[in-house]
Amino acid sequence: MAQGIPDKIMSNTTLIKDLADVAKDAALLQGVLMRIHETPNSSELVTYAPFTLFPTPVPKAVFFQALAVQTHYNTLVDKISQDPDFLEEALASTIAVDDFTARLFRIHQQILKEGRSQSIVLGLNRSDYMLDQGDDGSSSLKQIEINTFAASFGGLSSRTPDVHRHVLKVAGQLEESRRILDNNPAAGLAKAVAKAWELYGSERAVVMFLVEEGQRNIFDQRYIENELWKRYADDQEVAVVYFRNGYMPENYISEKTWDARLLMERSLAVKCPDISTHLAGTKKVQQVLASPGVLEKFFPDQPQIVEQIRATFAGLYTLDMGPEGEKTVAMALAAPDRFVLKPQREGGGNNIYGSEICQVLQGVKESTERMAYILMDKIHPNPVQNYLLRRDGPLKISNCLSELGVFGTYVRQGKDMVMNECVGHLLRTKSSEHSDGGVAAGVAVLDNPLLV
Ligand code: ADP
Ligand code: MG
Ligand code: MG
Repeated sequence: MAQGIPDKIMSNTTLIKDLADVAKDAALLQGVLMRIHETPNSSELVTYAPFTLFPTPVPKAVFFQALAVQTHYNTLVDKISQDPDFLEEALASTIAVDDFTARLFRIHQQILKEGRSQSIVLGLNRSDYMLDQGDDGSSSLKQIEINTFAASFGGLSSRTPDVHRHVLKVAGQLEESRRILDNNPAAGLAKAVAKAWELYGSERAVVMFLVEEGQRNIFDQRYIENELWKRYADDQEVAVVYFRNGYMPENYISEKTWDARLLMERSLAVKCPDISTHLAGTKKVQQVLASPGVLEKFFPDQPQIVEQIRATFAGLYTLDMGPEGEKTVAMALAAPDRFVLKPQREGGGNNIYGSEICQVLQGVKESTERMAYILMDKIHPNPVQNYLLRRDGPLKISNCLSELGVFGTYVRQGKDMVMNECVGHLLRTKSSEHSDGGVAAGVAVLDNPLLV
């Protein structure tokens, strides 16, 4: 591992076994917890959330680049959410063929027609990146996506630094242990929620967490909830709805659930995210933003911000009907391994890779159905060896790829940006055998950057 954990440690199997036990206990002590698969709604049996044995080297320059651009991404998402013409144009082709996005868009239109009942907006985002490895060994920061809805692991990632520090100390790597940064997204996320609550202006009103049916990841949410409990007591009127559920079609199990979403959107509560911010986080919007001249429209007099954001864009290509889309199809079919094909879905496991891209595109390339997707350059991070610790998993060395997430928060009241902050980070690492999938999907595990 370049400037990371010495080989003599990585290959000492007895030591690794001991360190894995030390690490698991440290994770339990620090509260890096998850409920088990078998009983997702009970805390009788809990385990450590999956994580890496060692932190992963991340170059300082790109790490701080990701932090520095976050408040601009917050601003960008917020501007998009206030620009119905842009959203309509950007999503026109998608909603023509993608039912889920179309239904969300219908709610958005109804709210526009009726007028927004609440002028306070709360954004809790996570912008995700991979470090693309250049031929010269350099790595450049490339955005994978931005999550405006239910961006998770701000809670657990507040506790993982102490776990890795401890493991490194036990392994005799004192200097390395000091290179792990403090991280507390939970406090930052809670601070923004509390700000929105305060602006709402009712002592009696509560914050409502809209949670999933199966709640293995409950502790991640509890960290944020507990930060809030330090501040307020319980009651009935809802000042803020914090959605941790509702980002995938499967969450809407009946017409009643769609009615409930509409009801919440029409209510006086501050929505996190509101419907237009939800739509601003779609992969189609991400692709449209990468087209020439679009960022300039949102930052007309700020070329340096445009430059800073654009520097993090990977190649993104439209599959709309017309010559541009035709070009994209031909390009993908000619070299599928260079790309990722993405539908408008969240939560991991939905993207299409390699030869399957050809299969899917052959099926849809002549029809408007292809407009449900976008195409993206595949990012190739430098593989790093590590051990992935998960309950019942074998202890073996894996070739790993990492994804850095940066948490951003903002609160706007009418035209006034009251708060706009970068509140922490998340590093997730997976075995390179897997193309896709996050922690919840059982593929990636929690990690920490070791700045080099
Ligand atoms: P989701 O909203 O489902 O998380 P993502 O766009 O983040 O969708 O993709 C899921 C996973 O697929 C990512 O966490 C990453 O591991 C992988 N992935 C996505 N886009 C790329 C890309 N352009 N290059 C390499 N891997 C990618
Ligand atoms: Mg993702
Ligand atoms: Mg996502």
